[in-house]
Amino acid sequence: MNSGSGKAPTHSSVEARRRLAYFDERRDEIVSTIRELVEIESPSDNKAAVDRVAEFVAHKFSRLGGEVRFHRAQDFGSHLQINFGGKSAKPVLLLGHYDTVYPLGTLATMPSRVVNNKLTGPGVLDMKSGIALMLHALAGLQEWRSKEQDGGLPRPVTVLLVSDEEVGSNSSRAITESLAKRASAVLVLEPSYGRQGAVKTARKGVGEYLVKVTGKASHAGLDFQKGVNAILELALQIEKISTFTDLKKGLTVNVGIVNGGSRTNVVPAEAAAQIDVRIARMKDAAGIDKKMRSLRPFNRKCKIEITGGINRPPMERTSGVAALYAQAAAIARELGWKLEEAAVGGGSDGNFTAGLGIPTLDGLGGVGDGAHAAHEHILISELPRRAALIAGLIEAV
Ligand SMILES: [Zn+2]
Repeated sequence: MNSGSGKAPTHSSVEARRRLAYFDERRDEIVSTIRELVEIESPSDNKAAVDRVAEFVAHKFSRLGGEVRFHRAQDFGSHLQINFGGKSAKPVLLLGHYDTVYPLGTLATMPSRVVNNKLTGPGVLDMKSGIALMLHALAGLQEWRSKEQDGGLPRPVTVLLVSDEEVGSNSSRAITESLAKRASAVLVLEPSYGRQGAVKTARKGVGEYLVKVTGKASHAGLDFQKGVNAILELALQIEKISTFTDLKKGLTVNVGIVNGGSRTNVVPAEAAAQIDVRIARMKDAAGIDKKMRSLRPFNRKCKIEITGGINRPPMERTSGVAALYAQAAAIARELGWKLEEAAVGGGSDGNFTAGLGIPTLDGLGGVGDGAHAAHEHILISELPRRAALIAGLIEAV
């Protein structure tokens, strides 16, 4: 083994290689777990479908000895909590979701297939591979210990899988936050970033606003001057709103959807814009919110109504987050690779836990491309070292 590299391998690097070999041998098993999950379709808005995958996943975790608890939700699938180990130490929270953005029937056009090194299918990257990685990392940790010890995990672990992440996490947010508060750290098994599989140490916060303008309808030919054009007013508002973007601060304001009017020969009485706001720093939240709420009509004959707000705080790269990343990078180094980090614009439930100040590392799940798109896939060759990294982190944090 020590063939002339000059340095004798350390104990931990020998152990790391042993673990990597363990997951290499089980690569096909991990792939088939992922395929089982992908083949149970689970769009966020179909409670029955999401509950089906929840039952299936619950069964898998209970076979590892986890204590299963369903948090029933009325309009969404159940959220699933699984506890491993006693209360001897603070648990680490493994966080994820089993809902996807794909409607039922997507498998017909986007089947789960292995093509060379790629595994395809709806939700394979975001984030059914992440759930499978949790299962296999926990199984590995149990197996490695069972030889000398009780076969349990080296420390308490809480798993939380929610059913509504892709639609804003409204029904699960309180559960996520209360479990995070009890945890020493949060590991989020959302997709990694880019071909190198970088973990995410910063995510932007997300807000949504609706700007509704009411004018006055009239016949565009007969009574043009009696009308008050809501679309014209909205156009002016949009121009103003667009100036709120501040790229240096990582603050963007995107008018993504506009509606208005009824017929070309009617002066429109109604128009509305839906706006996506992203912030990199929590301290910018109040300012942009105030700007949005301070919009006033240019034409006083118009009424303007603003609703919405910032609903996910940014995940900022705090010292706690940086320390978690350093631990992950050290484990990856032992496993023989350089783990990169990335800051991204998209939000996840990691934003909530990081927003509470709990050290959070996101993007620990599958490596691939095309989340939410027809070419969604993961790279099979990356699975073993991902599983080894997650197992190492569960132990270390
Ligand atoms: Zn996701």
